[in-house]
Amino acid sequence: MRYAVLSDIHSNLVALQAVLAELADAQIDRYLCLGDIVGYGARPNQCCDLIRELGAICVRGNHDEAAVDPAKAEWFTAPARACILWTREQLRSDNLAFLAELPALRVVDEAISMCHGSVSDPDLYTVTPDDAALSFAAMETPIAFFGHTHYAEWFVDNGDGQPPVEWPSPSGATWQLSPNARYLVNPGAVGQPRDGNELASYAIYDSDACEMVIGRVAYDIAKSATQMQEAGLPEAMYARLWLGV
Ligand code: ZN
Repeated sequence: MRYAVLSDIHSNLVALQAVLAELADAQIDRYLCLGDIVGYGARPNQCCDLIRELGAICVRGNHDEAAVDPAKAEWFTAPARACILWTREQLRSDNLAFLAELPALRVVDEAISMCHGSVSDPDLYTVTPDDAALSFAAMETPIAFFGHTHYAEWFVDNGDGQPPVEWPSPSGATWQLSPNARYLVNPGAVGQPRDGNELASYAIYDSDACEMVIGRVAYDIAKSATQMQEAGLPEAMYARLWLGV
């Protein structure tokens, strides 16, 4: 089975289309989406529509949750809150219902856990090996995918009693998984990368070959930024797209 793993699309339709074009020839059997389909960007309905058309298996992100229930945006920064209130006004009722029904945690094919932030708590940011250890303690599968930080990276639990090992910025190379280890993988953000690399990010996992690759693809950032500007969204939210922060 070949899985494409997408996270943190954030209503960036141009980036999502670029990623899907890249995946078109990758013999993908199943699409997984780790949440934050909406928030920040200018095309929330179109991104929800595309994800639904793909039949992607999804979990909810904190922005998806806040679009449904604005009280959840209380802790957002002022620009992020402005984006989510705008998003809520834009979303059609069927897409709001779709987002409202997303679970926080999901196990796919009895082998893969999916969460937004951490298997132990969907709102937790997994940044350090100590954070990763919380997910490893909670997960009941050899592999879990997470997003939320917008950093492409992975953590490995080698099963030797030592703390998880962090592998930052792993884009490009194909990685052979060991049957003796457990893996916590962040595919990076499709729509708003923050790891210093402005390219849209995604992962492909081949469960038969036991291979993982994190891919990056260029997209028309100016087009996305113009769409956000025309929608009246905060400048800081599109200025950062060029910087990958
Ligand atoms: Zn996000």
